[in-house]
Amino acid sequence: MRARIHRGASEIGGNCIEVEAAGHRLLLDLGWPLNLPFDADLSLPEVAGLSSADPSLLGVIISHPHLDHYGLARKVPAAVPFYEGEAAYNIMREAAFFTGAGMTVEPAGFLRHRQPFTLGPFTVTPYLIDHSAFDSYCLLVEADGRRLFYSGDVRAHGRKPGTFLELLRDPPADVDALVLEGTSIRPDADGSERAITEAEVEDACVGTFRATPGMVLALFSPQNIDRLVTMYRSAIRSDRDLVLDLYAAAVAAATGRETIPQAHWDRVRVYLPHGQRMKVIQSAEFHRTDAVRPRRIYPEELRERSGKLVTIFRTSMAREMEKAGCLVGAHAVWSMWPGYLREPSGEKLKAFLDRLGIGMTIHHASGHAAVPDLQRLVEAVAPRKVVPIHTSAADRFREFVPSVEQHGDGEWWDVA
Ligand SMILES: [Zn+2]
Repeated sequence: MRARIHRGASEIGGNCIEVEAAGHRLLLDLGWPLNLPFDADLSLPEVAGLSSADPSLLGVIISHPHLDHYGLARKVPAAVPFYEGEAAYNIMREAAFFTGAGMTVEPAGFLRHRQPFTLGPFTVTPYLIDHSAFDSYCLLVEADGRRLFYSGDVRAHGRKPGTFLELLRDPPADVDALVLEGTSIRPDADGSERAITEAEVEDACVGTFRATPGMVLALFSPQNIDRLVTMYRSAIRSDRDLVLDLYAAAVAAATGRETIPQAHWDRVRVYLPHGQRMKVIQSAEFHRTDAVRPRRIYPEELRERSGKLVTIFRTSMAREMEKAGCLVGAHAVWSMWPGYLREPSGEKLKAFLDRLGIGMTIHHASGHAAVPDLQRLVEAVAPRKVVPIHTSAADRFREFVPSVEQHGDGEWWDVA
């Protein structure tokens, strides 16, 4: 078995790994590079079977529903089989409706925790893992008596740390190559940094929510289900209701889990921003609004009960919320990667908040394992070699983990 990283060997995002054995091939992820706008003209990697028919390409396995792991899939003709988590697929379909950046290709099969399946000469075993995307997996690929273990994106400090601990306790044996994400191995990392946990974000949010006289404007990705849970729990602890938009309510429903805050829960309400209302009307998908009708909240109530609400917020809603008079005494909580605030959309948000004198606090936990957790993972799996991916400092891996073998984009190497 041999492998090559098409993209991601020296950048965070755009992950794509080709694995070959006995004349057959698999792709692990087909991501969009994070440094390119989503409408950029980007072609598929040079993989036979991706843009034209070639039966030796047996499929594309998507580790989790993040754009930098699946975003190029929309350019692939329908004949290529895709595999992903079932909830992940449902979430990507909602993202496709609401943002245009999701994925709607019907998968050929679903990934299930520790349930191996066979594709030609390959046996693939998914391992459910803690990450900021719901339904994320590490992937074990076996063929030719060799084993490649691909981390996908992992962390140990979210709301499912048990999945990480289970992997440490019971890792795949005899791994020849561990293709390991190293988001936290940065040019300036010293390796001792610890991660802020999701539980710490919750405590910090409670403090901010309680100190805010008006509405809390919560800025987070609706696809970050751990954060949705954090916002819900913080709202309850501050005696506030959580107001979702239709997108967040749809993603919560797409998880298929009754343990995730749902629109029909007592202290959850749904606001329909103008942009989403137009989408529903234009697509005539009225089942979307019918499903949440009893839980909807309208501008008058948003205004009257503003001090009792945590409302999911985005800049596109700013004008209507201002006009409805909901923002007196409001405070914004930024709960995404702070780097986005330096981008034009972040600048626009800050200008709006500044104009209304609304303060902003950042409460966020990373989706990616801190270096000490990556070290625990490498120690537990004890692979013959570690190949860096999804990192801005691949050349620094050897400072932190043993047996590193660095490979550039496009370079074939043996899994041995
Ligand atoms: Zn990810």
